[in-house]
Amino acid sequence: MDLAELEKMSIGAVDKYLRDRVATSDFRISELTDILIQKAIMLKTSDIHIEPTKRGIRIRCRVDGCFQELAVLPATLHDQLISRIKVLADLISHQRSIVQEGRITYNVGGKPQDLRVSIVPTVSGENAVLRMFSSSQETFELDKLGYERDVVKRIVSMLFDLNGMILLTGPSGSGKTTTLYSLMLEIVREMDDYASMITIEDPVEYEFGLFPQMQVDRNAKLDFASGLAAVLRQDPEVIMVGEIRDTETAEVGLRAALTGHLVLSTIHAGSACETVTRLINMGLEPFIVASALSGVIAQRLVRKVCQACKEEYSPDRSKLEFFSHVMRDRALPTFHRGKGCEACDFTAYRGRIPVAELLEIDDDLRSMILSKAQTSQIRKHMGTKDWTAMVHDGLIKVSKGLTTIEEIFRVVSLREVS
Ligand SMILES: [Zn+2]
Repeated sequence: MDLAELEKMSIGAVDKYLRDRVATSDFRISELTDILIQKAIMLKTSDIHIEPTKRGIRIRCRVDGCFQELAVLPATLHDQLISRIKVLADLISHQRSIVQEGRITYNVGGKPQDLRVSIVPTVSGENAVLRMFSSSQETFELDKLGYERDVVKRIVSMLFDLNGMILLTGPSGSGKTTTLYSLMLEIVREMDDYASMITIEDPVEYEFGLFPQMQVDRNAKLDFASGLAAVLRQDPEVIMVGEIRDTETAEVGLRAALTGHLVLSTIHAGSACETVTRLINMGLEPFIVASALSGVIAQRLVRKVCQACKEEYSPDRSKLEFFSHVMRDRALPTFHRGKGCEACDFTAYRGRIPVAELLEIDDDLRSMILSKAQTSQIRKHMGTKDWTAMVHDGLIKVSKGLTTIEEIFRVVSLREVS
């Protein structure tokens, strides 16, 4: 099948086409695998899941954070399909009881797309997950990611200090890496003459060829902490560390930030305020955190209302009350949602944008960190200021018709709303 034809087919049509081919035994497993992966790439999937189930082999794609079922194929094809994927990823195809990991580069319309393959044995057969690396089509321009304009402005001013630590926090799949890369590119664009830059990543998701990017390698005893210590001897102005997972990396990173480097990284925490206390709870000295940390960006990705089938609607009463409660002085906006159309595969949404909160560490927060304030105290303090917490940012985007209030309920933790 040619790619243009495949592009035009709906998900249901692909499923039917594959079933028909299988039913008449008119297929090669390599072609069938290609169709599945190519269609998934066309749908801008972040990950493909191939699961052995009672109904057969269930092939699901995550698009904009939600699953769509691409096809269900007969269970008899399972071993062949998994073997084909193993061959593509250079794995051992006859080994069915071990965990295997590999990588595939796929070409769709001349554009290479890298996929990370993970296969694990389960009681009903092997389960495969193929995750897309950031693709070349993705935008890494900070002002096009969907942050509010004043957030971008404040992030940029922190960046151009070339000093201190900026942390991104959010669950996996919340766009942290995309933002980190965008920050790096912003520095390349504006400060290339002043700054030497390097990254330490696990894995290197996208190769820019604009600055050195280092891959963590456990076999070579090169982890985030030892990599960071090594690059510091080269004295770069900007260091991006893929993730802070342990106290040692956090400590070396914060000390680097204290001594005139800009350190960009991600850390696992629920919110921007919680990130601050998380660092203290990791055993770091409050005075180091207080003096080295410049800011924290916490974010989630929400689905964007499909602009092609957008319509006005009224959310249910509890949601309207919630809006009024959080946005106190604002009148209710006109709410929008998608109706469902071909452009959005009848999901009513198309694409995603971040909802975010930015915590800049000022003198007040520094003294709170020094006195080991709890997350709730920091949050309460920010509540007395004119601070845009994540839920506010989300509702601003609802007001603009970019997303729905239902989407904010689904994605943003409402625990922090008082
Ligand atoms: Zn639509």
